[in-house]
Amino acid sequence: MVKKTCDNCGDEDQDLTEVFRVYQKIDLNNFDPDMSKVIESTVEPNAEMWCKSCMCIYPNVKSDSN
Ligand SMILES: [Zn+2]
Repeated sequence: MVKKTCDNCGDEDQDLTEVFRVYQKIDLNNFDPDMSKVIESTVEPNAEMWCKSCMCIYPNVKSDSN
């Protein structure tokens, strides 16, 4: 069996989901830890396979091809 690893953290995980990473730019002049303001978000064009914990921690969108 081929071992699958998360493209983001490198952990071995059989339960990976195809996602697109989202880069978020936060307004640092108006920084509020409870309500950080995202002024710009860019979606990475290449899909990656992520584990569940990375999907919870880092911004991402699920791939439609799933
Ligand atoms: Zn991961």
